[in-house]
Amino acid sequence: MDFTKLARKYQTPLYVYDFDYIRERFDSVKEAFRARKSLVCYALKANSNLSVLKHLATLGAGCDCVSAGEVKRALLAGVAKYKIIFSGVGKDDGEIEFALKEDILMLNIESEAELKRVEKIAENLKVTARISIRVNPDVDAKTHPYISTGLKKNKFGVDINTAKKLYIYCKNSPFLEPIGIHCHIGSQILDIAPYRDATAVTAELLRSLKALEIDIKFFDVGGGVGIRYKDEVTIEPYNFAQAVLANLSGTDVTIVCELGRFLVGNSGYLLTKVLYEKHNGERRFVIVDAAMNDLIRPSLYDAYHEIEAVDKNGGGTLADVVGPICESGDFLAKDVILPPLEHGDLLVVKSAGAYGFSMSSNYNSRLRAAEVAVESGKERLIRRREEFEDLVRLETEYLEGADEENR
Ligand SMILES: *Cc1c(COP(=O)(O)O)cnc(C)c1O
Repeated sequence: MDFTKLARKYQTPLYVYDFDYIRERFDSVKEAFRARKSLVCYALKANSNLSVLKHLATLGAGCDCVSAGEVKRALLAGVAKYKIIFSGVGKDDGEIEFALKEDILMLNIESEAELKRVEKIAENLKVTARISIRVNPDVDAKTHPYISTGLKKNKFGVDINTAKKLYIYCKNSPFLEPIGIHCHIGSQILDIAPYRDATAVTAELLRSLKALEIDIKFFDVGGGVGIRYKDEVTIEPYNFAQAVLANLSGTDVTIVCELGRFLVGNSGYLLTKVLYEKHNGERRFVIVDAAMNDLIRPSLYDAYHEIEAVDKNGGGTLADVVGPICESGDFLAKDVILPPLEHGDLLVVKSAGAYGFSMSSNYNSRLRAAEVAVESGKERLIRRREEFEDLVRLETEYLEGADEENR
């Protein structure tokens, strides 16, 4: 990929996504589940750009959404409504109503209170809500505490006994149709054992529901398959599928998975230009034009992203790569080896395709970066760079006493 050309054409900071890579990743997962009926969903919170969604929808992906806004994005991008799942612990009435009216595949329920709410709203709308229940299997995904979701102490899902009780409740309600079992144990998981353990728990539930004549059609194993940021040994899709399927022999369910990071993480690059170099005592700082508002993962999770100087020879000295934001937590990398750099030199931050732009903000009134897709050697803009007017549009009309000229 010609980063220099892209940076010249679209300026920096700039997100670039390799759409061919996304296709390969999607196909590899689909292939791994070939022996079964499967629905490979994309967890769109990882990167919700409409063109990314459309690309995945064209490949056949479904979508796992966690807000009405995400459901709307999926629909807008052309994802079939019967492939859309709505998860999340805190859906409000408006979101539930919207999802029921749109008739998406299912709502993924995370508590008894939510189930009752969905029932009530479905009754008002005179529809039957297709639901799955998110089971918290109490297994340790051994990942960062902020992205671990499958432990009793996390806010997600319900324990196995509560789940069973809720399925029985659904069976007796004319407004609820339980069609799925769901579980998602965390993110950036690098070991298949937690998947095997979690599906063992949910597969047992599946069998006991069958005995109660509750017919579950979708077995959703969640997402969370990790990627290589540095030197991690990751899970192959085939092994992921095998771990999941190991507990499902003799069942006739459609396997659903919801991968975010795995599909898009390594497809993305954040291009940024060097503004200044400075030394404070012993420490060398490379100040660049991208910041924590563009990529918050290093600040938020202490995440590592490989950073390389484009068109420079290797070697160099240790440096912290920091942004212009007025926070000491504003860094993209600490203690990386970089060659001597000058104003205008280009750096590339790798593996920035997931939880990069989608977690970006306008903090410090910074304009969000443009996004570009590269496919079959051709690039195209998929989100234009924000302008100052975008930033203040929702405020200017409320500005008292400002003369027209300045609006
Ligand atoms: C975030 C999330 C995912 C995707 O996680 P990744 O680590 O990006 O694969 C899948 N399912 C649910 C319910 C999620 O909240």
